[in-house]
Amino acid sequence: SDIGAQKDKVVTEEEWLQKWEMGNIGFHKEQGHPLLQKYLDVLLNGRSGLRIFFPLCGKAVEMKWLADMGHSIVGVEVSEQALKEFFAEHSLPYHKEPVPEILGAKKLQACFLAFTSGNISLYCCSIYDLSSSIVGKFDGVWDRGALVAVNPRDRQRLVTLLCYCLFSNKNSSYLLVTVSYDPNKHKGPPFYVPESEIKSLFG
Ligand code: SAH
Repeated sequence: SDIGAQKDKVVTEEEWLQKWEMGNIGFHKEQGHPLLQKYLDVLLNGRSGLRIFFPLCGKAVEMKWLADMGHSIVGVEVSEQALKEFFAEHSLPYHKEPVPEILGAKKLQACFLAFTSGNISLYCCSIYDLSSSIVGKFDGVWDRGALVAVNPRDRQRLVTLLCYCLFSNKNSSYLLVTVSYDPNKHKGPPFYVPESEIKSLFG
């Protein structure tokens, strides 16, 4: 469970924006993630009309799946290009407004959705700028490419924000996808997060 050379790795916001500009987005899954389908019942636990949070959302198509099922989606992503591509690729009109509490942040919100759909509100800013007074609380989190994408030194900060600030109650569920590989052979992201670290992060 040694994370070796990855411990001090830093990927800046600027580098993420560049990945989007250059189309270096091998992490994006056009068909969505099979593990969300497999574990959907764990996330929903028989509940409907949930508020589901997508940390570091990119243009994840799962946001559209869940909204089509009637759940409300909130995502956060530093790249506005990613969010615009999300709406364009699903032919969803959206409107954009500033977020008064966060300097420079924008909120892109889908409009004209079917009345059976949940809302989709995507914040363009760093996740560390969010708090429950801005985005509210959530019944579920789909974390694919968030814990494994943030800089290793920021993991506790991310988990604390998600679990202590943004969870609405004890029944909230957090689905986490990680990757397993030899951290001395690849630089990441995605970073390797050993199971022992996951246990200590989430307690
Ligand atoms: N969850 C998505 C994307 C994973 S890649 C998916 O499954 O496809 C990680 C994403 O996080 C990138 O799109 C990157 O631009 C964004 N990102 C990186 N640091 C961030 C931060 N601090 N706040 C918000 N978004 C961030």
